[in-house]
Amino acid sequence: MSLCRSLQVWEQTGRPHSLHLEEQRQQGQAGGGQLGGGLRYPHTAIFWVTCQQDVLNQRVDARVDEMIDRGLVDELLDFHASYNTKRLANDILSSPDYTHGIFQSIGFKEFHEYLVLGEEDRQGEQGKKLYQEGVEAMKLATRRYSKKQLRWIKNRFLKPPGRKVPPLYGVDGSEPEHWGERVREPALQVVEALLNDSIPALQPLNPPGTDLDNTEITNDKSRHECHVCDRVIIGAKIWKAHLAGNRHHKMLKRQSRLAAEGTGIGTDKTGQQQNKSNE
Ligand SMILES: [Zn+2]
Repeated sequence: MSLCRSLQVWEQTGRPHSLHLEEQRQQGQAGGGQLGGGLRYPHTAIFWVTCQQDVLNQRVDARVDEMIDRGLVDELLDFHASYNTKRLANDILSSPDYTHGIFQSIGFKEFHEYLVLGEEDRQGEQGKKLYQEGVEAMKLATRRYSKKQLRWIKNRFLKPPGRKVPPLYGVDGSEPEHWGERVREPALQVVEALLNDSIPALQPLNPPGTDLDNTEITNDKSRHECHVCDRVIIGAKIWKAHLAGNRHHKMLKRQSRLAAEGTGIGTDKTGQQQNKSNE
């Protein structure tokens, strides 16, 4: 939960999380926006391990059950008891405010009616009913939270309002028994293609360079030959990116170095071509 993260940041650094986020936002600069900073590194790709909604719901329910098995409710009771002791000691009569601080974390609001029962009542019929209702409410709240996270991902990566967004590749993690062929393999293929400066077979969920017109990219089949790298590149935008890329600049440097050393570039180039066709 983000609350835990914020507490953790504060504990580790003695500075509020909001300050860190603000710094990150400023460091990001170009391409930054309301939801976060821009990209620190060029050539970034993001993998989204997706999950079918019904599977996700089952996982969320199982996670809530697990948290409860591990003593969540006792923890809530402990906290609630100490909170109320302090509250009474300080003569504060209001109920906890579930829109602020720690009470925002999922659980307090959902189990509120159960938590305020006396110990004896909790054991009774009413207690059992309220407990069960708390469990159901918590599952619902957690599902809602997961939907909120999905919305965040979609807003952040799939409909960018004029900002740089890295390609987002979706891999389906709904069935862990198919992890190898549906998640690991396709992801590795994408990484390999990107490292080789070529276009991955898997289409990103967001079109590349979303600041451009999508149709322009997919329809642009123009051919560009790079004589430095000995490669053919399809599409003007990708060609432009290639010319600006690290790989091309390294080759350029290497060539001018070889030329300065008086090595026959021609023969070297032939060698490269040989390698290329053997791949
Ligand atoms: Zn090149």
